[in-house]
Amino acid sequence: MESGGPELLGERPGEGEVAFAFLGFSGVVARVGDVVAAIDVDNLVPPELYERLERVDLLLFTHRHPDHFHLEAAMRIYYDHTPVIVAEPSVCDELSAYIPSSALVRAPPRAAIRVRGVVIGSLEGRHVCPIRLFLLRVGGVRLFHGGDSGYVDLSRLSANIAFVPTGSPSPTASPEDALKMVRDLRPRVAVPVHGSDEDVSRFVELARGIGGLEVLAPQRHAAYRLRVL
Ligand SMILES: [Zn+2]
Repeated sequence: MESGGPELLGERPGEGEVAFAFLGFSGVVARVGDVVAAIDVDNLVPPELYERLERVDLLLFTHRHPDHFHLEAAMRIYYDHTPVIVAEPSVCDELSAYIPSSALVRAPPRAAIRVRGVVIGSLEGRHVCPIRLFLLRVGGVRLFHGGDSGYVDLSRLSANIAFVPTGSPSPTASPEDALKMVRDLRPRVAVPVHGSDEDVSRFVELARGIGGLEVLAPQRHAAYRLRVL
Protein backbone atom coordinates (compact mmCIF):
# COMPACT_ATOMS: atom_id res chain seq x y z
CA MET A 1 0.00 0.00 0.00
CA GLU A 2 1.13 3.47 -0.83
CA SER A 3 -0.22 6.61 0.83
CA GLY A 4 0.25 10.24 -0.08
CA GLY A 5 -1.51 13.21 -1.59
CA PRO A 6 -3.88 13.71 -4.50
CA GLU A 7 -1.13 12.92 -7.04
CA LEU A 8 -1.87 9.23 -6.35
CA LEU A 9 -5.16 9.67 -8.21
CA GLY A 10 -3.37 11.16 -11.21
CA GLU A 11 -1.75 7.92 -12.29
CA ARG A 12 -3.61 4.91 -13.54
CA PRO A 13 -3.57 2.24 -10.80
CA GLY A 14 -2.24 -1.16 -11.90
CA GLU A 15 -4.37 -4.23 -12.58
CA GLY A 16 -6.21 -5.26 -9.44
CA GLU A 17 -5.39 -1.98 -7.70
CA VAL A 18 -7.57 0.85 -6.44
CA ALA A 19 -6.50 4.42 -5.72
CA PHE A 20 -8.72 6.57 -3.55
CA ALA A 21 -8.82 9.76 -1.53
CA PHE A 22 -10.91 9.99 1.64
CA LEU A 23 -12.73 13.29 2.19
CA GLY A 24 -14.44 12.84 5.55
CA PHE A 25 -17.91 11.44 6.37
CA SER A 26 -18.59 8.96 3.52
CA GLY A 27 -16.85 11.02 0.85
CA VAL A 28 -14.55 9.05 -1.42
CA VAL A 29 -12.99 9.69 -4.81
CA ALA A 30 -11.86 6.34 -6.18
CA ARG A 31 -9.99 5.40 -9.31
CA VAL A 32 -10.00 1.91 -10.80
CA GLY A 33 -8.27 1.61 -14.16
CA ASP A 34 -9.23 4.74 -16.03
CA VAL A 35 -12.55 5.18 -14.25
CA VAL A 36 -12.88 7.86 -11.60
CA ALA A 37 -15.94 7.64 -9.35
CA ALA A 38 -16.82 10.30 -6.78
CA ILE A 39 -19.15 8.98 -4.08
CA ASP A 40 -21.01 11.05 -1.45
CA VAL A 41 -18.49 13.85 -1.92
CA ASP A 42 -20.87 16.53 -0.58
CA ASN A 43 -18.85 19.77 -0.68
CA LEU A 44 -15.85 18.02 0.87
CA VAL A 45 -13.40 17.90 -2.04
CA PRO A 46 -10.45 20.08 -1.00
CA PRO A 47 -9.16 22.56 -3.63
CA GLU A 48 -5.77 20.82 -3.93
CA LEU A 49 -7.56 17.63 -4.96
CA TYR A 50 -10.22 19.34 -7.07
CA GLU A 51 -7.62 21.12 -9.19
CA ARG A 52 -5.81 17.87 -9.93
CA LEU A 53 -8.90 15.90 -10.88
CA GLU A 54 -8.55 15.27 -14.60
CA ARG A 55 -11.83 13.48 -14.91
CA VAL A 56 -14.89 12.31 -13.03
CA ASP A 57 -16.82 9.63 -14.88
CA LEU A 58 -19.39 8.77 -12.25
CA LEU A 59 -20.84 10.91 -9.49
CA LEU A 60 -22.82 8.85 -7.01
CA PHE A 61 -24.95 9.83 -4.06
CA THR A 62 -26.38 7.33 -1.61
CA HIS A 63 -28.95 9.79 -0.26
CA ARG A 64 -29.70 13.46 0.18
CA HIS A 65 -28.50 14.21 3.71
CA PRO A 66 -26.27 17.28 3.90
CA ASP A 67 -23.15 15.35 4.93
CA HIS A 68 -23.40 13.36 1.67
CA PHE A 69 -24.96 15.59 -0.99
CA HIS A 70 -24.51 19.29 -1.73
CA LEU A 71 -26.42 20.74 -4.67
CA GLU A 72 -23.99 23.47 -5.76
CA ALA A 73 -20.94 21.23 -5.34
CA ALA A 74 -22.60 18.49 -7.40
CA MET A 75 -23.46 20.99 -10.14
CA ARG A 76 -19.90 22.27 -10.21
CA ILE A 77 -18.52 18.76 -10.69
CA TYR A 78 -21.14 18.11 -13.35
CA TYR A 79 -20.31 21.24 -15.35
CA ASP A 80 -16.54 20.70 -15.05
CA HIS A 81 -16.47 16.97 -15.86
CA THR A 82 -19.91 15.92 -17.19
CA PRO A 83 -20.05 12.68 -15.22
CA VAL A 84 -23.15 10.54 -15.23
CA ILE A 85 -24.87 11.04 -11.89
CA VAL A 86 -26.28 7.93 -10.27
CA ALA A 87 -28.22 8.68 -7.11
CA GLU A 88 -31.06 7.83 -4.80
CA PRO A 89 -34.16 9.19 -6.60
CA SER A 90 -34.86 12.18 -4.35
CA VAL A 91 -31.34 13.47 -5.10
CA CYS A 92 -32.11 13.13 -8.83
CA ASP A 93 -35.35 15.07 -8.28
CA GLU A 94 -33.41 17.89 -6.69
CA LEU A 95 -30.86 17.96 -9.51
CA SER A 96 -33.36 17.60 -12.32
CA ALA A 97 -34.05 21.34 -12.53
CA TYR A 98 -30.39 21.98 -13.39
CA ILE A 99 -28.96 18.89 -15.04
CA PRO A 100 -30.23 17.18 -18.20
CA SER A 101 -32.15 13.98 -17.57
CA SER A 102 -29.76 12.11 -19.89
CA ALA A 103 -27.03 12.58 -17.25
CA LEU A 104 -29.19 11.54 -14.27
CA VAL A 105 -29.80 7.93 -13.34
CA ARG A 106 -32.21 7.08 -10.54
CA ALA A 107 -30.51 4.30 -8.60
CA PRO A 108 -32.91 1.34 -8.49
CA PRO A 109 -33.83 -0.34 -5.17
CA ARG A 110 -32.31 -3.62 -6.26
CA ALA A 111 -30.75 -4.04 -9.69
CA ALA A 112 -27.53 -3.76 -11.60
CA ILE A 113 -27.12 -1.15 -14.31
CA ARG A 114 -24.28 -0.44 -16.70
CA VAL A 115 -23.09 3.14 -16.91
CA ARG A 116 -19.98 4.16 -18.88
CA GLY A 117 -18.73 0.61 -18.93
CA VAL A 118 -19.09 0.20 -15.16
CA VAL A 119 -21.58 -2.27 -13.74
CA ILE A 120 -23.23 -0.59 -10.77
CA GLY A 121 -25.18 -2.73 -8.37
CA SER A 122 -27.63 -0.59 -6.43
CA LEU A 123 -29.61 -1.74 -3.42
CA GLU A 124 -31.70 -0.33 -0.64
CA GLY A 125 -29.95 0.29 2.64
CA ARG A 126 -31.40 1.08 6.07
CA HIS A 127 -31.51 4.68 7.20
CA VAL A 128 -33.92 7.38 8.41
CA CYS A 129 -34.66 8.25 4.78
CA PRO A 130 -34.37 6.29 1.54
CA ILE A 131 -30.76 5.31 0.89
CA ARG A 132 -28.94 3.30 -1.77
CA LEU A 133 -25.80 1.24 -1.37
CA PHE A 134 -23.50 0.77 -4.35
CA LEU A 135 -21.33 -2.05 -5.63
CA LEU A 136 -19.22 -0.93 -8.57
CA ARG A 137 -17.51 -3.43 -10.83
CA VAL A 138 -14.70 -2.08 -12.98
CA GLY A 139 -12.82 -4.80 -14.82
CA GLY A 140 -12.27 -7.46 -12.18
CA VAL A 141 -12.46 -5.10 -9.20
CA ARG A 142 -15.58 -4.84 -7.05
CA LEU A 143 -15.88 -1.77 -4.84
CA PHE A 144 -18.65 -1.44 -2.24
CA HIS A 145 -19.86 1.80 -0.66
CA GLY A 146 -22.29 1.69 2.24
CA GLY A 147 -23.23 5.38 2.61
CA ASP A 148 -24.12 5.72 6.28
CA SER A 149 -26.55 2.83 6.32
CA GLY A 150 -27.26 0.32 9.04
CA TYR A 151 -26.77 -3.33 8.26
CA VAL A 152 -28.75 -4.98 5.49
CA ASP A 153 -28.17 -8.47 4.16
CA LEU A 154 -25.32 -8.39 1.64
CA SER A 155 -24.47 -12.06 1.83
CA ARG A 156 -25.29 -12.69 -1.83
CA LEU A 157 -22.77 -10.08 -2.90
CA SER A 158 -19.01 -9.90 -2.71
CA ALA A 159 -16.49 -7.09 -2.87
CA ASN A 160 -12.73 -6.70 -3.04
CA ILE A 161 -12.73 -3.39 -1.21
CA ALA A 162 -15.55 -2.19 1.04
CA PHE A 163 -16.10 1.32 2.37
CA VAL A 164 -18.27 0.74 5.43
CA PRO A 165 -19.91 3.33 7.71
CA THR A 166 -19.06 2.92 11.37
CA GLY A 167 -21.35 5.43 13.07
CA SER A 168 -21.51 9.08 14.11
CA PRO A 169 -23.33 11.20 13.06
CA SER A 170 -25.48 8.52 11.45
CA PRO A 171 -28.24 7.15 13.69
CA THR A 172 -28.24 3.85 11.78
CA ALA A 173 -24.54 3.04 11.24
CA SER A 174 -22.42 1.38 13.93
CA PRO A 175 -19.12 -0.51 14.20
CA GLU A 176 -21.08 -3.74 14.73
CA ASP A 177 -23.21 -3.19 11.62
CA ALA A 178 -20.11 -2.33 9.59
CA LEU A 179 -18.53 -5.57 10.75
CA LYS A 180 -21.57 -7.54 9.61
CA MET A 181 -21.40 -5.89 6.20
CA VAL A 182 -17.75 -6.91 5.93
CA ARG A 183 -18.51 -10.48 7.01
CA ASP A 184 -21.10 -10.68 4.23
CA LEU A 185 -18.98 -9.10 1.50
CA ARG A 186 -15.68 -10.84 2.37
CA PRO A 187 -13.44 -8.11 0.91
CA ARG A 188 -9.67 -8.17 0.98
CA VAL A 189 -9.65 -4.58 2.24
CA ALA A 190 -12.17 -2.83 4.52
CA VAL A 191 -12.10 0.95 4.84
CA PRO A 192 -14.06 2.31 7.83
CA VAL A 193 -15.69 5.68 7.09
CA HIS A 194 -18.44 7.90 8.54
CA GLY A 195 -17.69 7.51 12.23
CA SER A 196 -16.08 9.16 15.23
CA ASP A 197 -12.53 8.16 16.16
CA GLU A 198 -14.08 5.86 18.77
CA ASP A 199 -16.39 4.24 16.20
CA VAL A 200 -13.49 3.61 13.83
CA SER A 201 -11.25 2.23 16.60
CA ARG A 202 -14.03 -0.08 17.75
CA PHE A 203 -14.49 -1.34 14.18
CA VAL A 204 -10.75 -1.90 13.76
CA GLU A 205 -10.75 -3.90 16.99
CA LEU A 206 -13.76 -6.01 15.97
CA ALA A 207 -12.39 -6.63 12.47
CA ARG A 208 -9.15 -8.08 13.87
CA GLY A 209 -11.02 -11.33 14.23
CA ILE A 210 -11.48 -11.73 10.48
CA GLY A 211 -8.58 -13.68 8.98
CA GLY A 212 -7.00 -12.35 5.80
CA LEU A 213 -8.74 -8.98 6.04
CA GLU A 214 -6.73 -5.80 5.71
CA VAL A 215 -8.31 -2.82 7.49
CA LEU A 216 -7.30 0.63 6.35
CA ALA A 217 -8.56 3.45 8.59
CA PRO A 218 -8.02 6.41 6.26
CA GLN A 219 -6.81 9.87 7.19
CA ARG A 220 -9.05 12.66 5.97
CA HIS A 221 -7.71 14.17 2.72
CA ALA A 222 -5.04 11.49 2.32
CA ALA A 223 -4.89 9.33 -0.79
CA TYR A 224 -3.97 5.66 -1.03
CA ARG A 225 -3.16 3.16 -3.71
CA LEU A 226 -3.42 -0.50 -2.87
CA ARG A 227 -3.92 -3.96 -4.28
CA VAL A 228 -7.38 -5.38 -3.65
CA LEU A 229 -7.29 -8.59 -5.73
ZN1 LIG B 1 -27.64 10.19 6.38
